[in-house]
Amino acid sequence: MNLNFNDFIYNCDSDIVCHKFLLGLKQGKTLESAARTVMESLDGAFSVTGITGDGEFFAFKDPHGIKPLCAGHDPNAATFAFSSETVSLDMNSFVRDFELNPGELVTVSSQGFKRTQIIQKPREAFCAFEYAYFARPDSTFGGDKYVYEMREEFGRNIVREFQEIAEDGDIIMSVPETGDDSAMGVHEESGLRWERASRRHRYVTERAFILLNTERFSTIDKKINILGSKVAGKRVIITEDSIVRGDTTKIIIEKLRKAGAKKVYVFVTFPRIIGPCFYGIDMSTYGQLVGSRYDAEGIAKIIGADKVCYQSIEGLIRATGRSEDQLCMACINGKYPTPCAQKMADVMKKRFQEGFEEKNRIYESEEAQP
Ligand code: SF4
Repeated sequence: MNLNFNDFIYNCDSDIVCHKFLLGLKQGKTLESAARTVMESLDGAFSVTGITGDGEFFAFKDPHGIKPLCAGHDPNAATFAFSSETVSLDMNSFVRDFELNPGELVTVSSQGFKRTQIIQKPREAFCAFEYAYFARPDSTFGGDKYVYEMREEFGRNIVREFQEIAEDGDIIMSVPETGDDSAMGVHEESGLRWERASRRHRYVTERAFILLNTERFSTIDKKINILGSKVAGKRVIITEDSIVRGDTTKIIIEKLRKAGAKKVYVFVTFPRIIGPCFYGIDMSTYGQLVGSRYDAEGIAKIIGADKVCYQSIEGLIRATGRSEDQLCMACINGKYPTPCAQKMADVMKKRFQEGFEEKNRIYESEEAQP
C-alpha cells in the first residue's frame, strides 16, 4: 500500500500514534525503530497492539507506562494475547505472563514472547485512577493483589482517617457498583452494617460522567434506586469511588433526603480531583471538575452532604503497594509526569483562574498550545 504521509488526517489520538508508527517503520524498517519513533515523539499515554503485514504480532507501552497492558498465553502455548487487563486473560482461560514494562516492546514468535526495552525513563507513572475507578475489580496489575482488595483497603483507610464521622453513622450504603468494594472495607473497619439500600438498574449502562449535562440527570435517576424504608431516619455513610462533577452524588443524596435519611456522609476513595487528565480519561477542563473549584467543605455544600471525606493521597499510595514515583496522580496533585502535559495544565489553569471560559478541550486548539 502506498501511503502519502503528508496527507495523513488526525481524527483521533490513535491516528497520531499510527502515523508516527508508520513513519518510524518507513525510516528504520524494523518494529523497534517504529516503536522508538512513537515513544520519542509523543507525550502521553498509549498501550498499543498490532500485527504487521508479515504477520508479526506485537505490543508496546508508553515510556511512563501510564495505562495497563499485559501478556498471556493459552494452556497449550499455541496462542498468545495482549490485553489491557488480566481479567480478559482469565475469562478466556489464558495463563497470565507479565505486565509490560514502561517503554517496552514485546513481539511474538513460535518460541513465545520476546521482550525489548526500547526506552528507559527514570520513573514510571501508572494511572492511580485505575485502582479507584477504571479497572475491573477482578484484575491485577503486575502483582497478586486484585484491584478489589485495594479498594477494600481504601475503605478501611477512610475509616481510620475519619474515625469520628464513622462513629456517627448508622449504616453504610455504597453507590453501586464501584463503591461496593470500599463499602466492604468501611464495614470491616467500622463494624457498621453495610445496608444494600441502593440498587443499580442493570440495563442502564452509560457512565454518567461522560454524558452531556442534559442526559446525566435522567440517566443517574433511572440508574440508581434507593430503598426508602432502609434509610429513613438513619445517618447514612455513602461510599463513592470518586467525585468528578459531583452530579451523580448530588442526585443520590437528594434521593436519600427525600427518603428521610437524617444525615448523609460521603466517603470518597479517590482523593479530590483538582485537574484535568490528558492521558485518556474524559476529565478535560478545570471548569468541569467540582474539586478544582471547591475544597471538601465546599463540595459538601454543593452536593448536599453533611460531610465529604476523601481518602488521603498517602493512604491511596500505601494501599496500591506502589511508591509515589511509580504512580501518575496528576489529576489529584497537579504534577504531570510528562512535560507537555504539565505545560498545558499550567496554561489552562492560569486561563481558568483569569476567568477564561472553557467551552471545550482548549488544549486541542492551537492558541492554547504552550
Ligand atoms: S491524570 Fe489522573 S486519570 Fe489521568 S492518568 Fe493520571 S491519575 Fe490517571
